[in-house]
Amino acid sequence: MKFAKVVETNSKELPEEWRPYVIRYKLLKKNIKRIVQELDATFQRLHIEQPVIGTGEALPATDADSSATAPDGAVVQVHASAPAGVAYSIESATEDTGTQVVVRLEADQLFFDQLVEYIQRIEQFGQRYTRSYCANVDHMSTSLAAVASPYKHDYHIWREIFRLYMDAEVWCHSEGDYRPQSTSREGQRRFGDFVKHIEAVRLAQQFEDPLSAQLLMSFYKLNMELIHMRLLQETNEQAARKIIKKHDKQTHLTAMAQFPHLLTVDTAALTQALVQTIYDTFVSIVPQIDDYSCPMCLSIAWHPLRLQCKHLFCSRCILKASRRHMFDCPVCRSKGAVYNASTANIDHAMLKFLLLHFPDEIKDKQRDVQNDIDDEENHARVATLARSHTCTIQ
Ligand SMILES: [Zn+2]
Ligand SMILES: [Zn+2]
Repeated sequence: MKFAKVVETNSKELPEEWRPYVIRYKLLKKNIKRIVQELDATFQRLHIEQPVIGTGEALPATDADSSATAPDGAVVQVHASAPAGVAYSIESATEDTGTQVVVRLEADQLFFDQLVEYIQRIEQFGQRYTRSYCANVDHMSTSLAAVASPYKHDYHIWREIFRLYMDAEVWCHSEGDYRPQSTSREGQRRFGDFVKHIEAVRLAQQFEDPLSAQLLMSFYKLNMELIHMRLLQETNEQAARKIIKKHDKQTHLTAMAQFPHLLTVDTAALTQALVQTIYDTFVSIVPQIDDYSCPMCLSIAWHPLRLQCKHLFCSRCILKASRRHMFDCPVCRSKGAVYNASTANIDHAMLKFLLLHFPDEIKDKQRDVQNDIDDEENHARVATLARSHTCTIQ
């Protein structure tokens, strides 16, 4: 697909009010044609039949002298004068008799004026958008804190939703650092899978509070906006890069060197800030089990016991470690951390927190621990029986 068509297709996917902020690639392309025409006309007027186009040092902007005639055997040196508008300097071949004609290209000036204007408008739009988006996230997080309180029915549903959301890695996540590494297409695909998953397990249908259903829709909307914002950024980035490349190729001017800032603008930063806001806000409201698991058994750290090195484990895992003569912390190897642990190391604040947020997981864990204890007792009984049996035979 031709790039102009790609821009058009992407543009149609965006909300209508965002479309004016897509670089008008087709129009700029037409303007490049005009620059080439203007160049040809200039060469004809100056009687240069076979211009040799090369690049030179930037010239200070001087008054145009379009009525001058180039000397015989002139070599055309191209000098870019400013980000907007390019001056041509025409010099004679011999240095001592050198004369210079500076021609300002109107079409080139127009081309860059337009490009710079688009970029400024896009930047302003980005700033306005960030403010309103952050206000929406703020608003949603306040409402969410009310419906997703651990004392409310919907709390566990919300936790499951955010667990699935993080598993879906819509914007890519690595070790707590959420970065928008996905392209808009990739994000869209992953987000679509996430929504399908929520629908398949009928989570929204289990909400008790009607506000929860509304908030879920708002959450979807915030994600769709991010996908669109990313698409807008990708389209503009590519369009700016391609149009300047095209400009340089067709006119032999060197605008690319004049526009380094265009190519170094970190347009992912906006999306990144927004994604971070979503994660920071929501993850702090609804804690995830993975953040409270015991590094030994990998399930919830129940009863939570904090070693001298501050690492958190289940009391039972620490008891078992101590029986196996593992006396140092299994995570950081802090000397004697397990050996020195006692009931005084129970983290009571954490115990209350876990009881409040993870009652189901705690029930499961207590059942597993009880089974484990029963198994141990059975083994011990069998071993005792076996020993007494051996004694009787002897
Ligand atoms: Zn454990
Ligand atoms: Zn430790």
